[in-house]
Amino acid sequence: MTALNLPDPVTFSDRSCRGVDQEFFFPSNAEQKRMVRRFCGGCPRLAECADWAIPEVLAGRLAESFVAGVQMPQLYGKTPRQKRRENAAVELTEVAAAARDAHVEGAA
Ligand code: SF4
Repeated sequence: MTALNLPDPVTFSDRSCRGVDQEFFFPSNAEQKRMVRRFCGGCPRLAECADWAIPEVLAGRLAESFVAGVQMPQLYGKTPRQKRRENAAVELTEVAAAARDAHVEGAA
């Protein structure tokens, strides 16, 4: 279960995307999507960002862009909208867990 009212990642001065053009997070092809995933994968705030995004995406407040290296749900598609939100939330949960695991391993 994720706590509500987590700090918005824009408040983190050490986030990798500080000063990065927002357009970067709306990639239009597979290579650009890989670049965003790699970029976020190196962010020191990846776990916090993914945690923040989970309730946001479930509430329908995130769509189309990439957050924490995860594609937010498209506005339109064959899969029901709530299911797309839940799928993104699952992926964000996995990203947050993996980021924490990597942090623990790096500290060992
Ligand atoms: S994980 Fe990505 S979107 Fe989130 S704060 Fe870091 S660089 Fe920005």
